[in-house]
Amino acid sequence: MTPPLILWFRRDLRLDDLPMLTAALASGQPLIPVFILDPETETLGAAPKWRLGLGLEAFSTRLAEAGSRLILRRGPALAVLEALVAETGATGVLWSRLYDAAAKARDTAVKAALKGQGLRAESFAGHLMHEPWTVQTGQGGFYRVYTPYWRTVRGIPVAAPDPAPARLPAPDHWPASDQISDWRMGAAMRRGAPVVAAHIRVGEAAAMTRLNDFLAGPIDRYASARDLPAEPGTSRLSENLTYGEIGIRRLWHAALAAFEQGHAGAETFLKELVWREFSYHLLHHTPHIATGNWKAEWDAFPWATTGPQLTAWQRGLTGEPFVDAAMRELYVTGTMHNRGRMIVASYLTKHLMTHWKAGLDWFADCLVDWDPAANAMGWQWAAGSGPDAAPYFRIFNPATQVEKFDPNAAYRRRFIAELSRNPGAEARAFFDAAPRSWGLDPTRPYPRPIVDLAEGRARALAAYAARGGAE
Ligand code: FAD
Repeated sequence: MTPPLILWFRRDLRLDDLPMLTAALASGQPLIPVFILDPETETLGAAPKWRLGLGLEAFSTRLAEAGSRLILRRGPALAVLEALVAETGATGVLWSRLYDAAAKARDTAVKAALKGQGLRAESFAGHLMHEPWTVQTGQGGFYRVYTPYWRTVRGIPVAAPDPAPARLPAPDHWPASDQISDWRMGAAMRRGAPVVAAHIRVGEAAAMTRLNDFLAGPIDRYASARDLPAEPGTSRLSENLTYGEIGIRRLWHAALAAFEQGHAGAETFLKELVWREFSYHLLHHTPHIATGNWKAEWDAFPWATTGPQLTAWQRGLTGEPFVDAAMRELYVTGTMHNRGRMIVASYLTKHLMTHWKAGLDWFADCLVDWDPAANAMGWQWAAGSGPDAAPYFRIFNPATQVEKFDPNAAYRRRFIAELSRNPGAEARAFFDAAPRSWGLDPTRPYPRPIVDLAEGRARALAAYAARGGAE
């Protein structure tokens, strides 16, 4: 009987375009796919944890169709893997790399321990096109600015994706598995779950459908429509990319083919995929981007960290319609349009002078597409404290932004019930999703602005000047 290999799945819930699976199949050994709910994963925010649970259910079904199973175990990763090796006689563990500091520390320790026991312990690319340390400046350092990074990576070929195998070789005996329902992955979602459930698309097949739908139409108008939050102008694939339900090489090659066929918008889309790569490049080389000001000179800036203004922002009650529409979109759909993310982040950090970390944490709790690298880069970019950031003194004005990007008020009306005589389903759904403890009532008049835009802007600029312009 050939001893098995363990495939340790994390953010790579797919069979297509998966280098670790290709390597595992080449061994000819039976394969035992495993997901571990370890202490690092337990700390996920409410929405991403719930969405991960759904992703695991879909992936279990996908594996079953391929004659395999997903074994679920809970506990510290190394202890769980050692127990599984002992139970199954496995000769090794394979996984796809992650790049946040906690995952890297865990994986390094796991690899050293397993190797020390004479086992095969091997990590693979899979989450990114370019491993962060492989892209270097002319001087051999890392990139801090996107445009030169893009110029470099667009010249680096990306290997073609490996197709999904029809079947995975199964062991003679399967180890026991937890039940996903016992993990209660959605416990913290409470009333939000059924509302957000209407907007998510879970699993590999759903991700491919999203990609094909995007390529069949929206890609042609992507360069302009991607800025209009009321339009279905973007791919919405961030939700699937973050759990690895679609491979980045599969996506890149599909968009590249569209570009070569002359589809307008394809190049802009390729550039966005490279923004994702860039965020991981930064996270790997400067892990503190996720936890503190990337530029230390911002540490003395007088940000607020709590208070009623932050609460109003979180609850979509600032009285600034573009901001509130976006914050309610987040609560109703589990995602937010990129234009909305930029506006609400600028408003929080500048008009409300509240620390970007408070916004980052709120997103980490509410986004089904939460991504440690893109979220950190996005917040520090908007706050002005990050690499290649928008300068602090360039402050988005939500009132003029809304005229430009939501000229017919379709986005505002879609998400703010108080602005319509007959609010639609999504506007009403916000009141179903929000916790009862917020005491919201759609019949109450829409609030007056909590901050006068001109005063908020002047206050932020004065604080900036008083600090000697913290750039
Ligand atoms: P599309 O426009 O279809 O783009 C395709 C893909 O390119 C996206 O799925 C994403 O993987 C990547 N991409 C696009 N824009 C960016 C960007 N600015 N930075 C990095 N990658 C990008 N994205 C997340 O995936 N998770 C987050 O937690 C996240 N937090 C953000 C927080 C802030 C404050 C800001 C300003 C941006 C954040 N973004 C985040 C980036 C961006 O808003 C989303 O990736 C995008 O809105 C997802 O929608 P889509 O899949 O339709 O994107």
